[in-house]
Amino acid sequence: MNREATVTYIKQHGILPESKFGQNFLCDEAVIASIIDTAGIKQGDRVLEIGPGIGALTRELSKLDVSLVCVEIDKRLAGLLRDDPEIDAEVIDQDYLKLKDYGAETFDVVISNLPYYVMTDIMKKIFAECVNARKMVYMVEEDALDRIIASSRTKQYGPLSVLCSIYGDLEVVTRVPGTSFVPAPRTTSAVISLEHGSNLYCRDLVVFVDRCFAMRRKKLKASLKCYDAQAIDRAYEELDLNENVRAEELEPEAFLKLYNDIINAKSQRGIL
Ligand code: SAM
Repeated sequence: MNREATVTYIKQHGILPESKFGQNFLCDEAVIASIIDTAGIKQGDRVLEIGPGIGALTRELSKLDVSLVCVEIDKRLAGLLRDDPEIDAEVIDQDYLKLKDYGAETFDVVISNLPYYVMTDIMKKIFAECVNARKMVYMVEEDALDRIIASSRTKQYGPLSVLCSIYGDLEVVTRVPGTSFVPAPRTTSAVISLEHGSNLYCRDLVVFVDRCFAMRRKKLKASLKCYDAQAIDRAYEELDLNENVRAEELEPEAFLKLYNDIINAKSQRGIL
Protein backbone atom coordinates (compact mmCIF):
# COMPACT_ATOMS: atom_id res chain seq x y z
CA MET A 1 0.00 0.00 0.00
CA ASN A 2 1.39 3.38 -0.94
CA ARG A 3 0.65 6.66 0.85
CA GLU A 4 -2.44 7.44 -1.22
CA ALA A 5 -3.96 3.99 -0.73
CA THR A 6 -3.17 4.11 3.00
CA VAL A 7 -4.78 7.52 3.49
CA THR A 8 -7.83 6.44 1.44
CA TYR A 9 -8.19 3.23 3.48
CA ILE A 10 -7.96 5.12 6.75
CA LYS A 11 -10.57 7.67 5.65
CA GLN A 12 -12.90 5.07 4.15
CA HIS A 13 -13.00 3.10 7.38
CA GLY A 14 -13.01 6.12 9.69
CA ILE A 15 -9.83 4.97 11.42
CA LEU A 16 -8.24 7.35 13.92
CA PRO A 17 -4.70 5.98 14.44
CA GLU A 18 -4.31 5.29 18.16
CA SER A 19 -1.04 6.59 19.57
CA LYS A 20 -1.62 4.48 22.70
CA PHE A 21 -1.13 1.42 20.44
CA GLY A 22 1.80 2.94 18.54
CA GLN A 23 -0.19 3.03 15.31
CA ASN A 24 2.05 4.48 12.59
CA PHE A 25 1.12 2.68 9.41
CA LEU A 26 3.85 1.94 6.91
CA CYS A 27 3.06 3.37 3.48
CA ASP A 28 6.36 3.03 1.63
CA GLU A 29 6.17 0.26 -0.94
CA ALA A 30 9.94 0.01 -1.32
CA VAL A 31 10.37 -0.55 2.43
CA ILE A 32 7.51 -3.05 2.50
CA ALA A 33 9.14 -4.97 -0.37
CA SER A 34 12.51 -4.89 1.37
CA ILE A 35 11.03 -6.29 4.62
CA ILE A 36 9.35 -9.17 2.75
CA ASP A 37 12.46 -9.82 0.69
CA THR A 38 14.77 -9.78 3.73
CA ALA A 39 12.57 -12.29 5.55
CA GLY A 40 13.63 -14.96 3.01
CA ILE A 41 10.32 -16.75 3.36
CA LYS A 42 10.07 -20.25 1.90
CA GLN A 43 7.04 -22.11 0.60
CA GLY A 44 5.08 -23.65 3.46
CA ASP A 45 6.69 -21.52 6.17
CA ARG A 46 4.76 -20.62 9.31
CA VAL A 47 4.94 -16.85 9.60
CA LEU A 48 3.98 -14.77 12.63
CA GLU A 49 3.23 -11.06 12.26
CA ILE A 50 2.78 -8.96 15.39
CA GLY A 51 0.67 -5.82 14.97
CA PRO A 52 -0.57 -6.06 11.36
CA GLY A 53 -2.47 -2.75 11.66
CA ILE A 54 -4.28 -2.11 8.38
CA GLY A 55 -2.24 -4.78 6.65
CA ALA A 56 0.67 -3.06 4.88
CA LEU A 57 2.85 -6.15 5.32
CA THR A 58 -0.01 -8.63 5.73
CA ARG A 59 -1.29 -8.00 2.20
CA GLU A 60 2.11 -8.89 0.73
CA LEU A 61 2.57 -11.89 3.03
CA SER A 62 -0.89 -13.14 1.98
CA LYS A 63 0.35 -13.46 -1.62
CA LEU A 64 2.91 -16.06 -0.54
CA ASP A 65 2.33 -19.77 -0.07
CA VAL A 66 2.67 -19.65 3.71
CA SER A 67 0.65 -20.21 6.83
CA LEU A 68 0.27 -16.73 8.29
CA VAL A 69 -0.84 -15.84 11.81
CA CYS A 70 -1.30 -12.18 12.83
CA VAL A 71 -1.79 -10.82 16.34
CA GLU A 72 -3.42 -7.39 16.58
CA ILE A 73 -4.46 -5.71 19.83
CA ASP A 74 -6.93 -3.34 18.14
CA LYS A 75 -10.12 -5.36 17.74
CA ARG A 76 -11.57 -3.03 15.12
CA LEU A 77 -8.50 -3.33 12.87
CA ALA A 78 -8.41 -7.08 13.41
CA GLY A 79 -12.05 -7.28 12.28
CA LEU A 80 -11.29 -5.26 9.13
CA LEU A 81 -8.41 -7.59 8.29
CA ARG A 82 -10.59 -10.67 8.74
CA ASP A 83 -13.18 -9.27 6.32
CA ASP A 84 -10.58 -8.21 3.77
CA PRO A 85 -10.52 -10.46 0.68
CA GLU A 86 -6.82 -9.63 0.13
CA ILE A 87 -5.84 -11.03 3.52
CA ASP A 88 -5.18 -14.72 3.88
CA ALA A 89 -4.27 -15.12 7.54
CA GLU A 90 -5.49 -16.25 10.91
CA VAL A 91 -6.05 -12.97 12.76
CA ILE A 92 -5.91 -13.12 16.55
CA ASP A 93 -7.35 -9.98 18.21
CA GLN A 94 -5.37 -9.92 21.43
CA ASP A 95 -2.52 -8.23 23.20
CA TYR A 96 0.48 -10.26 22.08
CA LEU A 97 2.08 -9.80 25.49
CA LYS A 98 -0.78 -11.74 27.07
CA LEU A 99 -1.11 -14.35 24.35
CA LYS A 100 -0.69 -18.00 25.32
CA ASP A 101 -0.93 -21.32 23.47
CA TYR A 102 -0.42 -19.94 19.98
CA GLY A 103 2.06 -22.57 18.83
CA ALA A 104 4.99 -20.18 19.29
CA GLU A 105 7.59 -22.87 18.66
CA THR A 106 6.08 -23.72 15.25
CA PHE A 107 6.95 -20.40 13.57
CA ASP A 108 9.79 -20.23 11.05
CA VAL A 109 9.76 -16.46 10.53
CA VAL A 110 8.60 -13.53 12.67
CA ILE A 111 7.88 -10.12 11.17
CA SER A 112 6.78 -6.94 12.86
CA ASN A 113 6.67 -3.21 12.40
CA LEU A 114 6.91 -3.07 16.17
CA PRO A 115 4.67 -0.82 18.25
CA TYR A 116 7.34 1.29 19.92
CA TYR A 117 5.79 1.58 23.37
CA VAL A 118 6.14 -2.18 23.95
CA MET A 119 8.93 -3.00 21.55
CA THR A 120 11.37 -4.40 24.12
CA ASP A 121 8.79 -6.59 25.83
CA ILE A 122 7.51 -7.95 22.53
CA MET A 123 11.02 -8.78 21.33
CA LYS A 124 11.84 -10.53 24.60
CA LYS A 125 8.62 -12.58 24.43
CA ILE A 126 9.42 -13.62 20.86
CA PHE A 127 12.97 -14.62 21.85
CA ALA A 128 11.60 -16.58 24.81
CA GLU A 129 8.85 -18.38 22.92
CA CYS A 130 9.45 -18.53 19.16
CA VAL A 131 12.54 -20.59 19.80
CA ASN A 132 12.62 -22.30 16.40
CA ALA A 133 12.31 -19.20 14.24
CA ARG A 134 15.21 -18.95 11.79
CA LYS A 135 14.60 -15.32 10.91
CA MET A 136 13.13 -12.23 12.50
CA VAL A 137 12.63 -8.95 10.65
CA TYR A 138 11.62 -5.88 12.62
CA MET A 139 11.01 -2.20 12.13
CA VAL A 140 12.38 -0.42 15.19
CA GLU A 141 12.77 3.19 16.21
CA GLU A 142 16.23 4.70 15.94
CA ASP A 143 16.80 4.90 19.72
CA ALA A 144 15.77 1.27 20.08
CA LEU A 145 18.28 0.43 17.36
CA ASP A 146 20.95 2.12 19.45
CA ARG A 147 20.11 -0.21 22.32
CA ILE A 148 20.07 -3.26 20.06
CA ILE A 149 23.51 -2.64 18.55
CA ALA A 150 25.09 -1.19 21.71
CA SER A 151 28.50 -2.45 22.81
CA SER A 152 29.34 -3.46 26.36
CA ARG A 153 30.36 -0.67 28.76
CA THR A 154 27.95 1.81 27.18
CA LYS A 155 24.78 3.29 28.63
CA GLN A 156 22.55 1.70 25.99
CA TYR A 157 23.95 -1.81 26.50
CA GLY A 158 21.37 -4.09 28.09
CA PRO A 159 19.31 -7.27 27.74
CA LEU A 160 18.23 -6.44 24.19
CA SER A 161 21.80 -5.95 22.98
CA VAL A 162 22.87 -9.21 24.59
CA LEU A 163 19.88 -11.27 23.40
CA CYS A 164 20.14 -10.01 19.81
CA SER A 165 23.86 -10.65 19.73
CA ILE A 166 23.58 -14.20 21.10
CA TYR A 167 20.70 -14.96 18.72
CA GLY A 168 22.82 -14.74 15.58
CA ASP A 169 23.60 -12.37 12.72
CA LEU A 170 22.16 -8.91 12.99
CA GLU A 171 21.88 -6.70 9.93
CA VAL A 172 20.57 -3.16 9.71
CA VAL A 173 18.78 -3.46 6.39
CA THR A 174 17.66 0.12 5.83
CA ARG A 175 16.90 3.38 7.63
CA VAL A 176 13.35 4.61 7.25
CA PRO A 177 12.29 8.27 7.53
CA GLY A 178 9.16 9.33 9.41
CA THR A 179 7.55 10.25 6.09
CA SER A 180 7.23 6.55 5.25
CA PHE A 181 4.42 6.25 7.82
CA VAL A 182 0.89 7.58 8.31
CA PRO A 183 0.85 9.37 10.68
CA ALA A 184 4.57 10.23 10.60
CA PRO A 185 6.43 9.60 13.87
CA ARG A 186 8.92 12.25 15.03
CA THR A 187 11.91 9.92 14.88
CA THR A 188 13.42 7.85 12.11
CA SER A 189 13.24 4.08 12.14
CA ALA A 190 15.25 1.16 10.84
CA VAL A 191 14.55 -2.30 9.48
CA ILE A 192 16.67 -4.94 11.14
CA SER A 193 17.09 -8.58 10.31
CA LEU A 194 18.12 -11.25 12.80
CA GLU A 195 19.22 -14.61 11.51
CA HIS A 196 19.35 -17.43 14.02
CA GLY A 197 22.79 -18.93 14.50
CA SER A 198 23.73 -22.05 16.42
CA ASN A 199 23.01 -20.93 20.00
CA LEU A 200 19.99 -22.61 21.51
CA TYR A 201 17.32 -20.21 22.66
CA CYS A 202 14.81 -20.72 25.42
CA ARG A 203 12.74 -18.75 27.92
CA ASP A 204 15.22 -19.47 30.74
CA LEU A 205 18.02 -17.77 28.85
CA VAL A 206 15.91 -14.66 28.29
CA VAL A 207 14.93 -14.60 31.99
CA PHE A 208 18.57 -15.07 33.00
CA VAL A 209 19.89 -12.21 30.86
CA ASP A 210 17.09 -9.94 32.05
CA ARG A 211 17.88 -10.79 35.66
CA CYS A 212 21.57 -10.02 35.17
CA PHE A 213 20.67 -6.43 34.29
CA ALA A 214 18.01 -6.04 36.99
CA MET A 215 20.40 -4.04 39.21
CA ARG A 216 22.80 -2.73 36.62
CA ARG A 217 24.56 -0.28 38.95
CA LYS A 218 25.40 -3.08 41.38
CA LYS A 219 27.73 -6.04 41.13
CA LEU A 220 26.42 -8.75 38.80
CA LYS A 221 26.68 -11.24 41.66
CA ALA A 222 23.97 -9.36 43.54
CA SER A 223 21.56 -10.13 40.70
CA LEU A 224 22.52 -13.80 40.66
CA LYS A 225 21.68 -14.57 44.29
CA CYS A 226 18.84 -16.92 43.39
CA TYR A 227 21.24 -19.29 41.62
CA ASP A 228 23.65 -21.86 43.01
CA ALA A 229 26.55 -19.97 44.61
CA GLN A 230 29.17 -22.66 43.92
CA ALA A 231 28.22 -22.83 40.26
CA ILE A 232 28.52 -19.07 40.04
CA ASP A 233 31.94 -19.11 41.68
CA ARG A 234 33.13 -21.81 39.26
CA ALA A 235 31.78 -19.87 36.28
CA TYR A 236 33.44 -16.65 37.50
CA GLU A 237 36.74 -18.49 37.85
CA GLU A 238 36.50 -20.05 34.41
CA LEU A 239 35.62 -16.75 32.79
CA ASP A 240 38.25 -14.98 34.89
CA LEU A 241 35.66 -12.49 36.11
CA ASN A 242 36.36 -9.99 38.84
CA GLU A 243 34.11 -10.28 41.92
CA ASN A 244 32.95 -6.72 41.38
CA VAL A 245 32.12 -7.03 37.71
CA ARG A 246 28.85 -5.42 36.62
CA ALA A 247 26.53 -6.80 33.94
CA GLU A 248 27.27 -3.96 31.53
CA GLU A 249 30.96 -4.95 31.49
CA LEU A 250 30.34 -8.47 30.15
CA GLU A 251 30.39 -9.37 26.46
CA PRO A 252 27.29 -11.22 25.14
CA GLU A 253 29.12 -14.54 24.83
CA ALA A 254 30.05 -14.35 28.52
CA PHE A 255 26.36 -14.24 29.46
CA LEU A 256 25.80 -17.38 27.44
CA LYS A 257 28.73 -19.10 29.10
CA LEU A 258 27.58 -18.03 32.56
CA TYR A 259 24.07 -19.23 31.80
CA ASN A 260 25.26 -22.62 30.58
CA ASP A 261 27.57 -23.11 33.56
CA ILE A 262 24.92 -22.15 36.09
CA ILE A 263 22.17 -24.17 34.42
CA ASN A 264 24.38 -27.21 34.17
CA ALA A 265 25.20 -27.02 37.86
CA LYS A 266 23.78 -29.99 39.72
CA SER A 267 22.55 -28.22 42.80
CA GLN A 268 20.41 -25.30 41.75
CA ARG A 269 18.52 -23.34 44.31
CA GLY A 270 16.74 -20.91 42.04
CA ILE A 271 13.96 -21.09 39.54
CA LEU A 272 15.35 -20.42 36.11
N1 SAM B 1 2.08 -3.55 10.60
C1 SAM B 1 1.40 -2.29 10.38
C2 SAM B 1 2.20 -1.45 9.42
O1 SAM B 1 3.37 -1.81 9.19
O2 SAM B 1 1.67 -0.48 8.94
C3 SAM B 1 1.15 -1.53 11.68
C4 SAM B 1 2.38 -1.22 12.49
S1 SAM B 1 2.06 -0.15 13.88
C5 SAM B 1 3.67 0.53 14.11
C6 SAM B 1 1.97 -1.27 15.26
C7 SAM B 1 0.72 -2.14 15.30
O3 SAM B 1 0.82 -2.99 16.45
C8 SAM B 1 -0.60 -1.40 15.43
O4 SAM B 1 -1.51 -1.91 14.52
C9 SAM B 1 -1.04 -1.66 16.87
O5 SAM B 1 -2.44 -1.63 17.04
C10 SAM B 1 -0.45 -3.02 17.12
N2 SAM B 1 -0.16 -3.32 18.53
C11 SAM B 1 0.22 -2.44 19.50
N3 SAM B 1 0.42 -3.09 20.66
C12 SAM B 1 0.18 -4.40 20.43
C13 SAM B 1 0.21 -5.56 21.26
N4 SAM B 1 0.55 -5.48 22.56
N5 SAM B 1 -0.15 -6.74 20.71
C14 SAM B 1 -0.50 -6.82 19.40
N6 SAM B 1 -0.54 -5.75 18.57
C15 SAM B 1 -0.20 -4.56 19.07
